[in-house]
This record gives sequence, C-alpha cells and structure tokens, in this order.
Amino acid sequence: MLKAKKTSRRKFIKQSSLALSAYSVSNSLLLPFPLKNNSMVENKSFDVIIIGGSYSGLSAAMALGRSLRNTLVIDSGKPCNRQTPHSHNFLTQDGKTPAQISTIAKQQVEAYETVKFYNGLATNGKKRNEGFEIETASGETFFSKKLIIATGIKDIMPDIKGFSNCWGISVIHCPYCHGYEYRTQKTGIMANRGQAFHLASLVNNLTPNLTILTQGEADFDMEQIKKLKKHKIEIVENEISEIEHKNGQINNVIFKNGRKMNFDAVYAAIPFIQHSDIPNTLGCNLNEQGYIEVDPFQKTSVEGVFACGDNTTPFRSVAYAVSCGNIAGAIVNKELVEERF
Ligand SMILES: Cc1cc2nc3c(=O)[nH]c(=O)nc-3n(C[C@H](O)[C@H](O)[C@H](O)COP(=O)(O)OP(=O)(O)OC[C@H]3O[C@@H](n4cnc5c(N)ncnc54)[C@H](O)[C@@H]3O)c2cc1C
Repeated sequence: MLKAKKTSRRKFIKQSSLALSAYSVSNSLLLPFPLKNNSMVENKSFDVIIIGGSYSGLSAAMALGRSLRNTLVIDSGKPCNRQTPHSHNFLTQDGKTPAQISTIAKQQVEAYETVKFYNGLATNGKKRNEGFEIETASGETFFSKKLIIATGIKDIMPDIKGFSNCWGISVIHCPYCHGYEYRTQKTGIMANRGQAFHLASLVNNLTPNLTILTQGEADFDMEQIKKLKKHKIEIVENEISEIEHKNGQINNVIFKNGRKMNFDAVYAAIPFIQHSDIPNTLGCNLNEQGYIEVDPFQKTSVEGVFACGDNTTPFRSVAYAVSCGNIAGAIVNKELVEERF
C-alpha cells in the first residue's frame, strides 16, 4: 500500500543531499597496481604523508612532487571502484578500467623522485608538536609536518545474495558513471524516499523503463507520487532476497514472496562508513552525513590535516577526487612555503 507522507524541510534536505551520492558522483584487476615491497622507504620523516594513494591521493602527490616536497603515499590498494569493468565520465580516460587509470597516474607520480610509496595500511595517527606520527599495520612509524587523508569511503553491502557480486557491474550507484551504458534498458532503483525520487528523475532521462524497489513501505509525498505516476514509474514494495546474475550481470531480482522481476541494471543507494578511523582519532569533525568536514581549501577542523576525495563529499567521481586532491596538494605546499619563507 503506497502512502503519501509529508516530508519535513530538514528531512528533505538530508535526503536530497544523501541522494547526491548518486552523482557520484586488479591481483591485476582488483589492485590498482601491483604491490611492490617497501624497501624504498628508508626515510622515516617527510614533509607530507598522504594516506590513500588512489585518484585523490595521487593527485595531491603530483602537486607535492612537482613542488619538491618529500612526500610519502601510504596505500592499502583497495579503491572503491575496483570491481567496475569500465570507468566513465573522466576526460581522456573514458571507458578505461579503474586499474588502467590508476596505473598511469602512479607511473606519472613516480617520476617525481621526492615522492615515495608505501604499500600497506595506516592504522593509527597521532598529533605531535612538530606534526604527525603515522603507524602502519606492519608496525612501522612515519612522521610528517602535514597530513593528507585521501582514504575514500567503504560502501556497506546489504545482506542480499548476489548484490556484492554485481556491485559496479550491473548494480550501479551513479547515472553519470554507468547510466549511458544501460540507456533504454530495463532498470530498477533500489531506494526509497528522496533518494529514490532523485535517482528516478535522473535515470528517467536515460531510460523510460523504470521500477522503484523500496524494499518495504514506500515513503513519498503526494507531489512525488504524482510525478512518478506521470512518468509510468512503478513502485514495488516487496523485500529483495536475491539478485540472480551471471558473472555480475544481473538477470532477475528475486523477492522474499517468491516473485521474480527481470532487470538489465539496478541502481542502489547504499550506506557507507569512512574507510579509515584515523580522521576520527585525530579529532577531525565529520558532518551529519558522515563526511570529513573540509573548507574550500580541503583543510579539516584539525590544523595541519587535510582531506580530499570521496571521504569529504557526496559528489563521488574520479574527476572530483582528482580535482580536490590537486587543491589539497597545492595548499599544503603553500602552507609549508609560508612557514619557511
Ligand atoms: C562501483 C563504483 C563504480 C564507480 N564508477 C565510476 C566511474 O565510472 N566514473 C567516475 O568518475 N567515478 C566512479 N566511481 C566513483 C569513484 O570511483 C570515486 O569517486 C573515486 O574512486 C574516489 O577516489 P578516492 O581517491 O577518494 O578514493 P578511492 O578511490 O576509494 O581510494 C581510497 C584509497 O585509500 C586506501 N586506504 C583507505 N584507508 C587506508 C588506510 N588506513 N591506509 C592506507 N590506505 C588506505 C584504499 O585502499 C584506496 O586505495 C565509482 C565508484 C564505485 C563505488
């Protein structure tokens, strides 16, 4: 039974901004680049440590390398898009695999000899008088004057059989990244409320063949229901038990009541957590949605700590991660220059 509910302004703002995550927007396939040993990291003290060496962290590292900054990039090799077969909507790299993009990026950053790489997990961060101390899972400790956190976010997969196998392949999060490839095809939207409405309005531009899967009582206001009906967007409230697929390519959504529906693609708005607890340990403020609070220069609430990429914004895309990483790198260099000059 569909119920029209009045949405408060506060709730609406929260839902709309959550739904923005829809903009979001190898081992040779799963890891972005092959892991080498860490024997090159002889130094323990750096101008800057960057935790997270994917698109945003590498972009910051390039600006710092070009500024002759001794920089250490610590990366555990698990970018959020590692399962997606093709990355789209990033100029010059459209259609490449995520690993191809990060391999070129890393090769280009490696050309700057003041930038070093450490393959591993940063597990703890402490503020020291002169800067920061970062510990790794294998027990090493590194020091830096400034810290950039580019650790991304961790998507929480729902407990639905087949969901995680399809994630980034046919269960997708963003119309800009993957919607074009599924244009005109039979598409589901696994979401409710403002998130579902926002996604439906975007995806309806790409395919008229849309169904919203609310997995429980649908929660839309009268205006939203009117618009969904006008665009012939069906709403199914049954809970999903399984996504039937072949190598990540969805065939059917199976509901707990036994009903099956065939889809080519399903958009899913799922929750996330910060990939690393270090921002929290250092006292960086997080906003209501769970992102690290940063100013337009990527500075967090803790002096000397910067953050960039998915961990700071619902505008989830490679282009945005690269852009704000570039800003973080430049502003960190500017602060270091000002402290010395
Ligand atoms: C399935 C999927 C498909 C996508 N497809 C597209 C697309 O087609 N086009 C597009 O523009 N965008 C796409 N996106 C969005 C895009 O992938 C992200 O916006 C981008 O990867 C963010 O870059 P990032 O550097 O902030 O984080 P990530 O790429 O997630 O990288 C974070 C890095 O930090 C490392 N890390 C985390 N914690 C630690 C720690 N404690 N110590 C050391 N290292 C750590 C991780 O291992 C990882 O390497 C997609 C996202 C998903 C989930």
